[in-house]
Amino acid sequence: MFDSLSDRLTGVFDRLRGRGALGEQDVRDAMREVRIALLEADVALPVARSFIDAVTEKAVGHSVLKSVTPGQQVVKIVNDELIAMLGGEDAAPLDLDAKPPVVIMMVGLQGSGKTTTTAKLARMIREKHGKKALMASLDVNRPAAQEQLKVLGEQVDVSTLPIITGQQPVDIAKRAMESARLQAADVLLLDTAGRLHVDEALMAEMKAVASISKPHEVLLVVDSLTGQDAVNVAQNFSEEIDLTGVILTRMDGDARGGAALSMRAVTGKPIKFAGTGEKLDALEAFHPSRVANRILG
Ligand code: GDP
Repeated sequence: MFDSLSDRLTGVFDRLRGRGALGEQDVRDAMREVRIALLEADVALPVARSFIDAVTEKAVGHSVLKSVTPGQQVVKIVNDELIAMLGGEDAAPLDLDAKPPVVIMMVGLQGSGKTTTTAKLARMIREKHGKKALMASLDVNRPAAQEQLKVLGEQVDVSTLPIITGQQPVDIAKRAMESARLQAADVLLLDTAGRLHVDEALMAEMKAVASISKPHEVLLVVDSLTGQDAVNVAQNFSEEIDLTGVILTRMDGDARGGAALSMRAVTGKPIKFAGTGEKLDALEAFHPSRVANRILG
């Protein structure tokens, strides 16, 4: 995760710190290198540009350059701006303190890792939050999607809504809500259908499910390996539905990190979790300050 960006930035900042005095030109030269490193990490161009502008404006100030440790101060400014770019101060990724059953609706394209992530999240809710969860698959398009969630549910020890063949998504959602109430489940996770592309039918179905289930959280699952496409998908979804957050999957295989770095600035939506492997415990809360630390070493 962020390996090449981290290597590049460490090199730039080691050189900066190694010098006693710094002039404005030194800062501008270093920022040029940082800009290239961000673009190589597949960060969206406007995001990279505004990041560099913000750092440069703060770093070329008199008090920074005349200080005893100017290099260190510049790195501190980069760190702060990186945290801002990743979404600012850390907040709790999930707010489950609403009237139960708290509905979490999972949306995203097919193949993004949505079903696996639904099960990972259910596991986390049971293990870390100590709450009772119920999962329901509303994916009637992909053969065996409902079966897949059932199998995953058994693995994470969270119950799934029994499958009724032929039932349509809105009716499944209604039955799931009823069942969650009867079972006194704290949280209901709805795994909605994905398609290969963002299309009208997908959006219409998603909105119909949202209007009857009144989700407390609408989490978009996107594949970090798709880089700027992941950000575009998030933008498309957020124009259609009120997303409360994004989950980036396959962060374990994403050496560049462009989606993670651009997501907040482009879409305004927070990244709440990162998927870091195929195993069902491979889901981490996304903390901007920790991620910034990882990047800056
Ligand atoms: P869906 O079509 O969006 O529901 O996608 P699935 O949940 O079926 O996931 C597709 C594949 O991606 C599966 O083989 C998952 O194990 C894998 N996958 C999901 N999340 C991650 C992740 O964070 N890291 C890795 N390495 N694989 C993942």
